[in-house]
Amino acid sequence: MFWTLIKILLFVAIVLGLAYGAGMLMDSNQTVGLQILDMEFVLGPIQALIALGVFIFALWLALKLIGLAVAVLRFMNGDETAVRRFFMRNREKRGLDALLSAMIAQAEGDGKLAIVKAEKADKLLNRPLMTKLLVAQAAEMKGNRTLAEESYKALLSDNRSRFVAVQGLMRGRLEAGDKDKARALAAKALEMQPAHEITQNTLLQLQTEAEDWSGARKTLLTKKSSGHLPRDVWRRRDALLALQDADKLAATGELNRAREASIEANRLSPDLIPAAVAAAQALVAQGKGSYATKVIKKAWKSQPHPELAAAFAAIEPDETPTQRRARFEKILRMHPDADETKLLRAELLIAAEDFPDARRALGDMCDRNPTVRALTIMAAIERGEGADDAVVRGWLARALTAKRGPQWVCANCQHVHASWLAICDNCGAFDTLEWREAPDSSGPSATQTELLPLIVGSLPKPADDRADADADVLEGDLDETGTNGKNSA
Ligand SMILES: [Zn+2]
Repeated sequence: MFWTLIKILLFVAIVLGLAYGAGMLMDSNQTVGLQILDMEFVLGPIQALIALGVFIFALWLALKLIGLAVAVLRFMNGDETAVRRFFMRNREKRGLDALLSAMIAQAEGDGKLAIVKAEKADKLLNRPLMTKLLVAQAAEMKGNRTLAEESYKALLSDNRSRFVAVQGLMRGRLEAGDKDKARALAAKALEMQPAHEITQNTLLQLQTEAEDWSGARKTLLTKKSSGHLPRDVWRRRDALLALQDADKLAATGELNRAREASIEANRLSPDLIPAAVAAAQALVAQGKGSYATKVIKKAWKSQPHPELAAAFAAIEPDETPTQRRARFEKILRMHPDADETKLLRAELLIAAEDFPDARRALGDMCDRNPTVRALTIMAAIERGEGADDAVVRGWLARALTAKRGPQWVCANCQHVHASWLAICDNCGAFDTLEWREAPDSSGPSATQTELLPLIVGSLPKPADDRADADADVLEGDLDETGTNGKNSA
């Protein structure tokens, strides 16, 4: 608005200036004498001005004609494009100017001007690749999806610009929320340039979202082959995708193929706990219990885990507790000092009703690392040994406020999951779940500690070691290394 006003004022000022200048010249009564050959002219001021203009124009025309004559001479000497070039030169110059303006506007972030200039350059220059690309980019920046798509489509026909065109179309579809079409375009783009990392990542993301697991595995392989993924990471992720594939197949009722996929996942990454569990289940279903044992043992060797223990137990569902204990010795021996081993051994002994041994197996876990599971197991031991209800309740009350121990935690967003997933429920990240303690699952709050006596009620007087320990518990003195009854066992 302001700018328009300035322009109008400027125009009025120029017109006034010219009128004033012409008036001055008229009033001055000056004349110009001009002699051409034998003729003599006397010109008034305005006439002189017009004559000057005519002269300049004639000079310009003469120069152009000389240029044309030179071009014609060249043409006659065999330079076939000389004449056409002569006429094109001016047009080309304007086209290049427009192109430059478009590029500058684009760099400045002025999408609207960039589109105008790029379209002008497109009309003037016979370089559709260059100008269409600029129009497409400017339109994309401005958010003009229709123009961008139209321009990118025009670029599809040339080999040099086909990849960039497919990519541009893919981005357009992504923005429009048409993920299926975007996925097809991304796959096409990756076919053209398999080593292009951005396209690899986009395609992988789209395939994972669409649960196209076999497609995702193919893309992952391409990623590894082009050196964008270390071999061990590739094996692990490939196993994860195979596992997802197994889940999908199982959901559609294709149990045999689902089992094969689970076993394949375990073969790819024997240490991967969910894959080992799924493979063991598949092998048991196929009647190959001994193979299932091998699978679990191998995974347990790299990391003891309760889900592995559960799968190991499921290999022989009908055995007695004593038989089960004996069978588990194979894996319990591998990490004798691990907390998971101690907890598992105690659980097995409780099942076999061997409570003193269970207490010994648990060792000092309730003092050193009092997790919910350890304290609950201790309550079960007390119950089995016939301790007072108050003592059992004491352990359970402590368990209420204890830390949870290791859980499946997303490394990306720290969200805790009840069971393992390939894709985080909370943030959608792929392959980020780790088996570890959640950042703030520990520590009873002040309020909860105050509630403890209310939950537990009154306790018998501390008459022996065990009662001493439980009194400690009730006072909320959780860190004290009390005897916790183990001496009385
Ligand atoms: Zn997450």
